[in-house]
Amino acid sequence: MIPVAFEYFRPQTINEAVGLLSQKEDVKILAGGHSLVPAMKFRLAQPKTIIDISRIADLSYIRETNSQIHIGAMTTHHLLESSDLLRQKCPLLSETAANIGDVQVRNRGSIGGSLAHADPAADWPAAILALEAELLISGPNNQRTIKATEFFVDIMQTALQPNEILTEIRVPVTSKSVAYVKFAQKASGFAIAGVASWIDKSKNSVRVGITGIAAKPYRATAVEQALEGRPLSADAISQAARKAVQGADPLNDMHASSAFRAHLAEVNTRRSLELANSR
Ligand code: FAD
Repeated sequence: MIPVAFEYFRPQTINEAVGLLSQKEDVKILAGGHSLVPAMKFRLAQPKTIIDISRIADLSYIRETNSQIHIGAMTTHHLLESSDLLRQKCPLLSETAANIGDVQVRNRGSIGGSLAHADPAADWPAAILALEAELLISGPNNQRTIKATEFFVDIMQTALQPNEILTEIRVPVTSKSVAYVKFAQKASGFAIAGVASWIDKSKNSVRVGITGIAAKPYRATAVEQALEGRPLSADAISQAARKAVQGADPLNDMHASSAFRAHLAEVNTRRSLELANSR
């Protein structure tokens, strides 16, 4: 189908984009377009105005600053997958990026677009939650920072206001003890159960982010607490993984029943933690 007619703007700066967001009615930001354009073609989204942020150079970068990695929201999955800096300093992001869709999707799709879209089957949220990322948001009057745990509100809903742009993602430099394990939907590659783990061996502490299971991605805090300060034996990991859906409400749809999703969450949590622990 052909989308309904819309006004199109291509700002060169973040300020210009934020200004347009406030001036125009019924606006949508266009990043890589790999989620928004299909929604417009199906007429599930019918914005009157499109603000294309894909040419804003200040939104595409990967930098290290004070033991943190700063990533521009428009950075593509491909750039994240192929970044030497990330492979060395935050390998969970390279590994996650490599799991997304196919080459075409990775070449166009952006990390910011994926997070803002908040598809419950998207891959990025698992890693972003496990890494305790901070997200930088620009609005008409100020910039604000929000924790990843507060960003995802519900199915396809985030804490972003209609006149705000997600501009940057900040994650810590980590060791190599990380892993992302997913059970993918066969046709698209989207996650039916994706589990990201980060083990800080110096503190005997683990962080687990889970996507695909529930309406919104979540930190598996019951799993984390079960392992906090304990030696990570195979038995301890296996016991803790049983808590993977504690507090979550697994989805039931044509791709997987809620019981199957709960099973996959446990299995992938165990596998993800074992893999991270072996690295
Ligand atoms: P767009 O489609 O341009 O935008 C998505 C939404 O976010 C829109 O509502 C837009 O207004 C908003 N938005 C975009 N950027 C910002 C911003 N900076 N601030 C505020 N709002 C913003 N994803 C996976 O995770 N795993 C997969 O395996 C996977 N497989 C795919 C397979 C196919 C065939 C396709 C088409 C997509 C797949 N995707 C997958 C989705 C892909 O990763 C998209 O790129 C991503 O979801 C959206 O990113 P985008 O840059 O294309 O955003």
